Amino acid sequence: MPRISVFTLFPELIEAHASSSLLGRARNGGVLEVRAHNLRRFGIGVHQAVDDAPFGGGAGMVLAPGPVFAAVETAIEEGAAARPVFLLGPGGRRLTQRVARELAALLVDTGGFSLVCGRYEGFDQRIHDHLADGELSIGDVVLGGGEVAAMAVAEAVGRLVPGVMGNEQSAVVESFADGLLEHPQYTRPAEFRGWAVPEVLRSGDHARVARWRLATAISITAAKRPDLFAEHGELTSVERRALKEFAMLDTIRPDRGAENDAAGHAGDGSLTE
Ligand code: SAH
Repeated sequence: MPRISVFTLFPELIEAHASSSLLGRARNGGVLEVRAHNLRRFGIGVHQAVDDAPFGGGAGMVLAPGPVFAAVETAIEEGAAARPVFLLGPGGRRLTQRVARELAALLVDTGGFSLVCGRYEGFDQRIHDHLADGELSIGDVVLGGGEVAAMAVAEAVGRLVPGVMGNEQSAVVESFADGLLEHPQYTRPAEFRGWAVPEVLRSGDHARVARWRLATAISITAAKRPDLFAEHGELTSVERRALKEFAMLDTIRPDRGAENDAAGHAGDGSLTE
């Protein structure tokens, strides 16, 4: 079965995540295994040290090359892990749904890849230069370690591996699948504290529901993520008609993207509306 091998100083964190919910079911079902490997296995001395002070001085500790090379290379030799080997780090390629799709395809084609979690001040540069095939980041933010990032990668990739999600369709119609955010979702009750579920969703008219979902997906994407919406390109006649049918055409303001760009990256604004 395809496998994601995660090298870490905190295997219990990865193991807890890998054995729960979606990834746990995938492992039990024999469709995907996420496995933790302890970087301390080849630690140096009685304390099994894996880090040391930086040459040139400065704060913090650096992950030493010896233990990291040994842990990864030995696991690969033993057949317990595979290349490509990706380090987790803020300088890496940003994890997006496109990257997740690429990694899922890689997993299915080659059977696996490896993730190496940093800690402290990060990796000795020779690990970047001579052990890693690439680096992945979960965004422009600094975490205390690569574990949460590795879990994000494993989960985003894992749910795209055929057989992992119960309903294969949910990966096809969700956010980013077609360059749009997902339409709003509602469940029972039909009315909660006086707020009613849109009538169209209770109409039983599946074609109309599909048009409403398309219209709201476009409208929401234009409002929340003008950058994504700009990439989506010109509206098709089908999209335009759907927006018109639900009176959402004027929610699409073409000038909106420019405004947001001027204020910085789209979506990086205030956390509250
Ligand atoms: N001194 C480093 C940060 C080290 S943070 C710097 O300034 O760039 C410690 C570890 O956390 C890193 O080695 C990396 O594995 C992980 N990490 C931190 N931020 C991350 C991010 N945005 N994406 C992925 N991993 C990250």
